Amino acid sequence: MNPKNQLLLIEDERNICNFIMTILKSNDYKMTYALNAETGLSLAASQCPDLILLDLGLPDLDGIEVIRKIRSWSNVPIIVISARTQEKEKVEALDAGADDYITKPFGSSEFVARIRSALRRAASGSNSSSRTQQKYIAGDLVIDYEKHIITIHHEIVHFTQIEYKILTYLSQNAGRVITYDSLISHVWGPFADSNNRILRVNMANIRRKLENNPADPQYIFTEIGIGYRMVDNENT
Ligand code: CA
Repeated sequence: MNPKNQLLLIEDERNICNFIMTILKSNDYKMTYALNAETGLSLAASQCPDLILLDLGLPDLDGIEVIRKIRSWSNVPIIVISARTQEKEKVEALDAGADDYITKPFGSSEFVARIRSALRRAASGSNSSSRTQQKYIAGDLVIDYEKHIITIHHEIVHFTQIEYKILTYLSQNAGRVITYDSLISHVWGPFADSNNRILRVNMANIRRKLENNPADPQYIFTEIGIGYRMVDNENT
């Protein structure tokens, strides 16, 4: 928890803007805000915030375009705030480079937790030692990338090569939503069929080996219509 982090909020609805500002200020974040994309982009450039909260429906420019513009020069974490329930926009935002999304209306504790998690990932990603992190640890699960070994309750569990690749990619991006397409192209290559049936079959097998109760997973969560999110690495 770093209470001195500077956050930039880009949101055109004043009451939502005020609501978010109140929550985050009371959590000791330094806040600035913009009511449109143009001001937001210029503040992003001049203030170099530690994280950007972005509403997708802005009056002057589509939020997806805002993400693309920011991503052309910065890796700052971006969390999309969206009233839209359509999965398509969320997937588009994630594929354009957003780190996470939260759908309005949302609870303040979940919101703050998402922010913390994105800031933590950004901080650990910027120091080079953890980029080449050797282990993922969450609960009873340990993935040892160096030894290629996965243990649950200290017992080695065998995964196929594809399953291992999926687990590696999700765990190295722990806490982030990984879209189906990005997971498929990472595991099977950019020319793979984007039909996600084979991914779902593999995921079912992974969950059977990994989870106590595959119907109520504790390690890999499904974001319906969008992708998967693996629980945060406790090793960071
Ligand atoms: Ca809006």
